Amino acid sequence: MGWTFCKEKHIKKTRKSHKCVFCGRTIPAGSPNIYNWAGLYEGDFQNSYACNWCEDHESRLVDTWDNEILDFWDCLKEDIFRKELEPYMNKYGSITVYGKADGDYFVFCSHEEVWRVRCPVIRESEVEHDAYVAKALEEEMRRKAEEEANRKIEEAIALEE
Ligand SMILES: [Zn+2]
Repeated sequence: MGWTFCKEKHIKKTRKSHKCVFCGRTIPAGSPNIYNWAGLYEGDFQNSYACNWCEDHESRLVDTWDNEILDFWDCLKEDIFRKELEPYMNKYGSITVYGKADGDYFVFCSHEEVWRVRCPVIRESEVEHDAYVAKALEEEMRRKAEEEANRKIEEAIALEE
């Protein structure tokens, strides 16, 4: 079955906070470039959001056959971080991973070992972009203020003459 119809888009800046449909983390209000898709899925209307990290790994979090969302922590353990978890697998034979999301980190626990991996809700590049824009604006304002000050000085000098 899958989708009857589905409309995908990227929200430039979210007005409300949303929950990522994959990892369950909160995507804060004001987040840039957030992937959103809405439509009719197996008779139910769905409106879903994905954090940047999950969007980048979407193909590995969804069953390509029927678009069903897979178990998030299974995907991390058995696919996405399989290589990173291999040393633990080899050490213990098998591991049971308990995972939880902690802000920009996913935390894995097994056999009293804790492993944190940084998977930002918002891509670093987006944050940098925002910071870059903010810096450019700041510079522009400083330049304007400087111009204004120079103009006032010139006016004052003109009055003196
Ligand atoms: Zn997510």
